[in-house]
Amino acid sequence: MSELQALLESLHQTYQQQDAGQLACYIPELCKADPNWFAISIVTTDGQTFQVGNCQQTFTIQSISKVFVYGMALADHGRDALLAKVGVEPTGDPFNSLIRLDEDSKRPDNPMINAGAIATTSLIQGNGPTERLNRLLEMFRRYVGHEVFIDMPVFMSERDTGHRNRAIAHLMLNFGMIDKNIDEALDLYFQQCSVLVNCHDLAVMAATLAHKGINPITQERAVESGYVKDILSVMYTCGMYDFAGEWAYKVGLPAKSGVSGGIMAVVPNRAGIAVFSPLLDEYGNSIRGSRVLELGIRVIQV
Ligand code: GLN
Repeated sequence: MSELQALLESLHQTYQQQDAGQLACYIPELCKADPNWFAISIVTTDGQTFQVGNCQQTFTIQSISKVFVYGMALADHGRDALLAKVGVEPTGDPFNSLIRLDEDSKRPDNPMINAGAIATTSLIQGNGPTERLNRLLEMFRRYVGHEVFIDMPVFMSERDTGHRNRAIAHLMLNFGMIDKNIDEALDLYFQQCSVLVNCHDLAVMAATLAHKGINPITQERAVESGYVKDILSVMYTCGMYDFAGEWAYKVGLPAKSGVSGGIMAVVPNRAGIAVFSPLLDEYGNSIRGSRVLELGIRVIQV
């Protein structure tokens, strides 16, 4: 067994014992997750995989989708036009904050909080909702390396209960920051959050960002290399929400979490790391995932 594989197994064994945290029950379907699920996966930019735990268990990507949709909006509109609509400033506020619109520009502060992500999603080009959804799914396919599907019960569950996100969208509509068709934008946002992946898929997606936008398994380009820096920068400063500063200090890697329990981190030019475990801390970040990356990263030499 390689040293890295042995390290992953020992990290998994250590943190499997910890059962602190809460499931994301504000989306009722996510409350059905098994709190014991726990997987760690590393994919290197030369295509090697190291993994342990429930690596084949699928889960919805949730907010980790924001990273990839931001990349797509950059490709659709270019950096300057996108920056006029969505800022790149960390907030220090929770991901679902209602008040994050800059006083002067009325922009949401950054694309990793819900306000900025809904605005970003509303900018995805396409002739009607089906074409926009298909473009998103096709973009995810390139990162993952196989076709992806939407978890319909999770999508419907969030669509039925996502009143806070509806309020955020209405606020942005009030300030003219998104198009009047907010129901379409919200549906697409809830759909992107409901894309199913497993821990290995997530590590491949992170490794694609580490590999300047080329999927290291399929060798297919998922995003123009020129936009990878933009994506990694907002992940680094805003990806872990109101824990982002402490995360940057402790882990020092661009990362993004989602409320179903995934976290992906990018080691530029080296590897993508993904951890999946659904018990969350007060910031909405996976507790086991944060621990593995905070403490494990000091010894992970990929
Ligand atoms: N779909 C979730 C929401 O909008 C995503 C949140 C997250 O993963 N942090 O609330």
